[in-house]
Amino acid sequence: MLELHAIYKHFDTVKAVNNVSLSLAEGEVISLLGPSGCGKSTLLRLIAGLETPTKGQLHLEGQDITTVSPQNRGFGMVFQDYALFPHLNVAKNIGYGLVEKAWSKAEQKQRVSELLELVNLNGYETRRIHQLSGGEQQRVALARALAPKPKLLLLDEPLSNLDMALRDSLLTDVKAILNHLNMTAVYVTHDQQEAFKLGGRIAVMRSGEIEQLTAAKTLYAQPKNYWLADFFGHANLYLTTDTLTTVAKSSANFFLLRSDLCSLHQSQATAQDFKVKILSQELIADSHYLELFVEALNITVMWQGYERELLSLNPNENQDIYLNIPHKAWIGLKE
Ligand code: ADP
Ligand code: MG
Repeated sequence: MLELHAIYKHFDTVKAVNNVSLSLAEGEVISLLGPSGCGKSTLLRLIAGLETPTKGQLHLEGQDITTVSPQNRGFGMVFQDYALFPHLNVAKNIGYGLVEKAWSKAEQKQRVSELLELVNLNGYETRRIHQLSGGEQQRVALARALAPKPKLLLLDEPLSNLDMALRDSLLTDVKAILNHLNMTAVYVTHDQQEAFKLGGRIAVMRSGEIEQLTAAKTLYAQPKNYWLADFFGHANLYLTTDTLTTVAKSSANFFLLRSDLCSLHQSQATAQDFKVKILSQELIADSHYLELFVEALNITVMWQGYERELLSLNPNENQDIYLNIPHKAWIGLKE
């Protein structure tokens, strides 16, 4: 539905967006995830038409829209700071785009009431913006963006100004609303949890480029390179050695060990069971964090598990403990 072909946006020497290509299917929701300054907002603004690419083309349903104005693209936008009109009440804010598009009064009224229902703000029509909580203001902003039935919805860190609990519940609602409308959307966030919870594909950006674009599950389990593995918080990353090459049966430059696939045992049953020394042990809430030294591989592994997985072991007594490392726990990484 939307296609970006080798898009660049340079501000003097800053390569804010550098050779980005992607395509979005009808009804698909995609997250743009990455650290602050990696070019997420610039990419979103390029899609919206608020920036013109230095190089590259954008196509919407097969038409070249690279030079089409934001108004004529007709996309909806939701920003971090809500950007509502303070002098207009809730209904007038939501209906703003309909007045612009010269919908009849009756159609406007009907559409505004549909949207109030959709974002769960029934009865708020005449409220002033300053009488709303942050979460309610963002619901109004979402309703305003959706009112003119945009082909595409663009959201730039819409939940960043809200506190944790509210963020979570609003995210659930946003997801349900997008799904209900079969809305095609691009959702910018620096928050991994948010991108994962939203579901759909995630494009991870770094220094103006997309490092990897795939389903959330694949991103976490099969990051393409060291930077991505580190970005997703994987603690067990190793520079290759002859031993690791042999054990992992791969000649990658780096290895990621997925300790979530490894288990602890009292005895050595297979060649994949490695004797470990517990270097430290910490209990945080219901999770045990063990730092394990695997002698045969000369690596330290951070392992996390629950009480039930430690019950049969007596790690405090002088008993041998083995870490089972299945072959699929080794992920070879480039760079
Ligand atoms: P993000 O949204 O991921 O935090 P941005 O897209 O806002 O990142 O910014 C990417 C880079 O481009 C940053 O280095 C930023 O300073 C730069 N940048 C963004 N907009 C402009 C602009 N209008 N003029 C100059 N530099 C800009
Ligand atoms: Mg930004």
